[in-house]
Amino acid sequence: MNLIADIDRKLDALAAHSLIRRRRVTDGACAPRQTVDGRDLLAFCSNDYLGLAAHPQVIEALREGASLYGAGSGASHLVSGHSRAHQILEERLAEWMVPNLIEARALSLCTGYMANLAILTALGQDADAMIFSEALNHASLIDGARLAKAGVSVYPHGDVAALEAMLAASAAATKIVVTDSVFSMDGNLAPLPELLAACERHGAWLVVDDAHGFGVLGRSGRGALEHFGMKSPNLIYMGTLGKAAGVGGAFIAAHASVIELLIQRARPYIYTTAAPPALAHALLASLAIIGGAEGAQRRAHLAKLIDTLRGALRFEHWQLPVSHTAIQPVIIGSNDDALRVSASLHEQGLWVPAIRPPTVAPGTARLRVTLSASHTLDDVTRLAHALNELEKAAP
Ligand SMILES: *Cc1c(COP(=O)(O)O)cnc(C)c1O
Repeated sequence: MNLIADIDRKLDALAAHSLIRRRRVTDGACAPRQTVDGRDLLAFCSNDYLGLAAHPQVIEALREGASLYGAGSGASHLVSGHSRAHQILEERLAEWMVPNLIEARALSLCTGYMANLAILTALGQDADAMIFSEALNHASLIDGARLAKAGVSVYPHGDVAALEAMLAASAAATKIVVTDSVFSMDGNLAPLPELLAACERHGAWLVVDDAHGFGVLGRSGRGALEHFGMKSPNLIYMGTLGKAAGVGGAFIAAHASVIELLIQRARPYIYTTAAPPALAHALLASLAIIGGAEGAQRRAHLAKLIDTLRGALRFEHWQLPVSHTAIQPVIIGSNDDALRVSASLHEQGLWVPAIRPPTVAPGTARLRVTLSASHTLDDVTRLAHALNELEKAAP
C-alpha cells in the first residue's frame, strides 16, 4: 500500500497546481463537429489542419489498403514488414523533397516522436557530437537529445546570433542544430533561412521538425522548406503524417547517405513493428489531395479563417501573439484562469483546450486555438464572439 500512497501523493501535488489532465472521449471521425463525452461540440483543437482525417477519398484509400495489404505489417522494416505500400510512399515523398534536398531520399516511421528520436540518436551517437536545440522545441526533440550520446546546448528562442556564437565556440566533431519550423504552442515560424546560413558557415546539420508545416506551408503544401525556398545538403527534414496529412506516421527526408545511416543505426526505426501498410496506402491519397488543386483550395480557405479570427478578436488583457499559421494561441496567464475560460467555452458548446506548464512556460497558460479547413467562417466568428465576451467579463 505504501507504493500506491506514494503515487497518490504525486497525483495530489499535480491536482493542487491545477495540472491534472483529463481525456475526453470523442465519437465519430475527427471533425469540427464532434460528440464529446456525449455532448455535441464545435471543436478548435485538432491538428487536422486540412480536414483530411475524415476525407472520403482518404477513408476509401484506407479501406482499399486494408484489402490489398491486410491489417498489420507483421514485423519491423528490416525483417519483413517493409511492404510495397511503404516503398511507394517513401518514393513519392522523396520526389516531393527534390527541390529542397540534394540526392533526396525519404524514410517512413511510425510516429513523429520516434522520427525525432531516430534522427537525434543516430546523428548524435558519438560523445564528440553536440546538439544545439532551440528553447521552445517539442518534447520529442528534447527527449531525442537526452537519449543521444551527444552533448546538448539550448539556444534562446529565435536567436540566430546567439546560436551562431555557440556554433563558433564549439569544437564538436559533429554539430547538429535542431528546431521546430512552426512552434506548436505559439504558431510562429523559426527563422529557417538564417538558421541554415549559420549552419552552412559552421559545417552544422539543420534538423527541421515540420510537424505543423507539412501539408500547410508552401505553395503546393510541401512544407516549411518550400515556403522559404530553401535547398541544402545540410538539411534533414522531418514531416509528420498524422496532422495535416490526416492519417498517422511520419517521414524523414535528407541526403540518401543520411537515410542509409538511419536505416542501419536508428533504433526507433529498427526495433519496432512497421506501421500497417494500409496507412501508407491511405497517405498516397492524402498526398494527392495536398499537392493538387483541392489542397490549394483548402489552404486558401484556412488562410481566410485565420485572417477572420485575428481580425475579429479584440482583447485588452489577454494576448494574441503574432501567428500566421493555423495555431492561434490566446495567452491568459494563470493555470486556473485558462482552465476557467476553457470551461466557460465548453458550456457554450465550444471545445478549446487550455495548455498549461510544463507544455508552456509558467505564467503563460493559454488557450490553443487550432483552425482547420473544415471549419466555416461562421464557426470562427462564433468562437471570436465568445472569446471577446469572456475577456470583457474576466476580472
Ligand atoms: C506532434 C508533433 C510531433 C510528434 O509527431 P507524432 O506523429 O504525433 O508523434 C513532433 N514534433 C512536433 C513539433 C509536433 O507537434
